[in-house]
Formats: sequence, structure tokens, C-alpha cells
Amino acid sequence: MLIEKLIAIVGDANVLTGEQVRSRAVGWADRRPCQANAIVRPGSTDEVSRVLSECHATGQPVVLFGGLTGLVQGSVASAHEIALSLERMHRIESVDPIGRTMTVQAGVAIQRIQEEAEKHGLLYPVDFGARGSAHIGGSAATNAGGNGVIRYGMTRESVLGLEAVLADGTVIPAMNRMLKNNAAYDVKQLFIGTEGTLGVITRLVLRLRESPRSTQSALVACPTFTDVTRFLKHIDGALGGSLSAFELMWNEFYRLVTTPPAKGTPPLPQTYDYYVLVESAGGDPTRDQAQFEEAIAAAIEAGFVVDAVVCSSEAQRDALWALRDDVEGIFRLGMPVAFDVSLPLAEMEGYVTEVVERLEREWPAYRRFVFGHLGDDAATSSRRDAQHRGAPRHRTLRLRAAGLAERVGLGRTWHRSREAALAQPLPQPSRDCIDAEAETGARPERHPEPGACVAQLSRSRSPIH
Ligand SMILES: Cc1cc2nc3c(=O)[nH]c(=O)nc-3n(C[C@H](O)[C@H](O)[C@H](O)COP(=O)(O)OP(=O)(O)OC[C@H]3O[C@@H](n4cnc5c(N)ncnc54)[C@H](O)[C@@H]3O)c2cc1C
Repeated sequence: MLIEKLIAIVGDANVLTGEQVRSRAVGWADRRPCQANAIVRPGSTDEVSRVLSECHATGQPVVLFGGLTGLVQGSVASAHEIALSLERMHRIESVDPIGRTMTVQAGVAIQRIQEEAEKHGLLYPVDFGARGSAHIGGSAATNAGGNGVIRYGMTRESVLGLEAVLADGTVIPAMNRMLKNNAAYDVKQLFIGTEGTLGVITRLVLRLRESPRSTQSALVACPTFTDVTRFLKHIDGALGGSLSAFELMWNEFYRLVTTPPAKGTPPLPQTYDYYVLVESAGGDPTRDQAQFEEAIAAAIEAGFVVDAVVCSSEAQRDALWALRDDVEGIFRLGMPVAFDVSLPLAEMEGYVTEVVERLEREWPAYRRFVFGHLGDDAATSSRRDAQHRGAPRHRTLRLRAAGLAERVGLGRTWHRSREAALAQPLPQPSRDCIDAEAETGARPERHPEPGACVAQLSRSRSPIH
């Protein structure tokens, strides 16, 4: 029997079944009990390889578990599936302070990587609210972005090499440690952002950067979205490359995170339409602070910033980031319907306006909270009012938003379905894509377009056979 074979590979204590599985939640945002048939916890690449090989031989579907912080249900396992969790593979293998690399197993949390880099005066720049729980393997598998994308890029830009295990147990070693590597195929790219559909990431070589010696932060208010984009262009130019974060909060989100029961208090009045948490990171504390403040003063002078508060301590900076990171405030109101959409800056305001208008027209009781990394993505979350009847199913909402995204030329929604697994390398259009076509008239592509900006709106799964 398969379970006994798996126990023989990873040990009795590392194959969880029954109540041990049910006592775990589905994920960060979904606290229902996990339904997997079993959770298998290998401790090494060799064990991952042998577990997958056994599952492959019997056609057993496997779902990969990282830190379970993904917000698109990629790690939701059903009763007939086995979950392979990377939680025991949490070793930081080595740090090379000269080459500025770190070699880690896939189950190390992002925050541990950041802290380890700091010990060497270095920076691991990928950072987002789930840093304490999200694994580096999950971050690479989802090509996570976060607060520093505008300066350092997404996870892809911080992965120099990796090791992955295919569904049949074959180990793919691609542990490159160099920044320049033009030796033929860059195999690691197949596993970054493909959510485990092509294999399990087991180890990674990460690129580290020099730690900035100074950080300047401010919260500013802008009267219009156009002013926000003007401010972005202005401050990026004025800082000469040291802009490191540009986080936008629409009014409703700002009020939510600065009004009890939220812990945050409003550093600026709650009356403005747009709030930007802006940050720069440089190498000269005295000069950088002056340059930062001058740039903000010039923006006020030009009229696209109408109010601003500049941080003078680390505690103030932490308080600002706590506002931006307080996504849980939305969950306090109930289970949200979340849209996490990347789109060109020029399209962002129109897209948000139209989504909001349509939602309000059809379901007036909805509340929405919009925030995001400008120059990276905007995220819209909506909540169904408890009194409201006849609310749509989540999927229908998602597909309608998908139709909008396609119409404004933002690429297609893409459902990484079971068929996208190794067994069938050329995926067919999934049911959701077909439904989207019926609903929007847009014709979904058979493949994600290289370089296309894909609205990540549909349910994403990563079973591998
Ligand atoms: C509060 C909060 C803030 C967030 N902010 C951002 C943000 O700013 N930007 C952003 O991009 N994302 C953000 N996220 C989502 C982010 O993508 C995920 O948190 C993270 O990347 C997933 O890592 P994980 O280890 O939790 O993976 P999981 O959620 O466990 O898994 C995610 C997917 O990757 C697969 N997977 C996991 N591990 C592996 C592996 N080793 N090999 C292959 N496949 C694997 C899973 O099967 C699943 O399909 C946020 C999430 C939260 C909760």
C-alpha cells in the first residue's frame, strides 16, 4: 500500500493522516480543516524524489504545500490527494558574503532568509506581508513580488539557481551561483512562477544585495490618481535610483486600517483620496535624508502632493508599514472576494473605476478596499454585506473582472489546471477559460503568452502526477 511505502521513506512521524491532517487549516486565509488524504513531510531532496517516484508509479495526485500563504488556493488538497509539505526542509545551507549568495532548502521562511542576510550586512530584497510564514520555495513557485519590486524585481530576479524534482522523481540540478550565466537553457525559469505544475523546488541559490545604509520613509497624500503617477515619476527621477517602495492605498483601505478595531492610527487625515507610502534606500544617511525631503517638498510645491509626513525613526517607519500590511483588517469583516491584478500604470485607474462601478451597480451593499504596489500591481478586495441576498458566486465575480482585464488588453486569465501537469505538457483551455469565453466573448489563449501581463484571477492548482 502506498502510505506504507511513503512511511518507509520519510518515517512514521512524517506521514500525517486522519485527525493529524484535519487539525491543520487549509491555509492562511482559509481556516477550514485540511482535507488531504495524507500530508507527507520529506526531509531531503532524496526523500522528495523517492516519494514522488512512488506516487507517480501508482498515479497518485500530489499537491505541494509551502507556507500555505498563497491567496489563490493553489495548495488546497482534496480527499483523494496527498499533500507533499516542504516544512521539514528548512535549512540555510550556506552564505557567501563575497559572492553575495545564499543557498537554502525550499522550506525556509522568507523572514529567516532576510534575517540571515542581515547578519552578513546583506539584504534579501523580496519582502511581503506573509514573510514570516511563506517559504522561499512557495515564493519562487508563485514568483512573488511585494514591496521592493520597483527596485529589485520579483522573486525571479533573486533566484540564481535551483534544484527541482520532477513528478517521476527525477532530480534536476540547476544550482547556478553566478549572476552572468548564458550557458544555454536557463532551466530554473521553468520552475519559477509555475506553481509546482512542472516539479517540486527543493533547494535554491539566492542573490543577495548590499544592505542600504539609510532608509527614508514618508506617507504622502495625493488628490488624484494622475497626481499619484506624476509623483512616482518625479520622485523616481529626483532620487536617482534609490526609490525602493511605492505603495498606494485608496481612501477606503486607509480608513479601514486607521480606524478601530484596527490597531493603526492615521498619520494623515482620513479625507484624502490617495495615500502613498514611499521609501528610498541609499548609502549616505545625511545626504539621502535631505535629498528625500527635498524631493517631497518639490512635489508639494508642484501640487501633486497635498500633505505629507516624513518618518524620523524606525518605530515610525514600522508603524507606516503596519498600516500597509494590515490586510487582515479586511478579513475581520468577513471572507473577501479578492482580485490581485497586475496591469500597466496607464490602465490602472480606469480598470479599478470600472470594476468598482460594476460591482456597485449589481451589488450595492459591497464594500471594497483597494491597495497595491504601484508599478507592480493593484489589488482590489470586496466583501459581501451580511444583509445582502443573491450575492454572486466568487467565480462569477472573478470571470467578470477577467473580461474587463481582457478588454483593456491586459492579457488573459489563465487557469493552471490539473491538465497543466507534467502528464500533459501542452495544457488545454480549462473550464474557467471556456466559461470566460462564453461570458465575455474573449477568446482565451491555449498558453500564457510570454511576457504578457496575466491577470491572476482564476483558481490555481498545482497537482502533479
Ligand atoms: C498577508 C499576505 C501578503 C501577501 N503579499 C503579497 C505580495 O505583496 N506580493 C505577492 O506576489 N504575493 C503576496 N502574497 C502571496 C504570496 O504569493 C504567497 O504568500 C507566497 O508566495 C506563497 O508562498 P508559500 O510558501 O506560502 O506557498 P503556498 O501558499 O504553500 O503555495 C503557493 C503555490 O506554490 C506551490 N508550491 C509551494 N511550495 C512549492 C515548492 N517548493 N515547489 C513547487 N511549488 C510549490 C503550491 O502548491 C501552490 O500552488 C501575500 C500573502 C499574504 C498572506
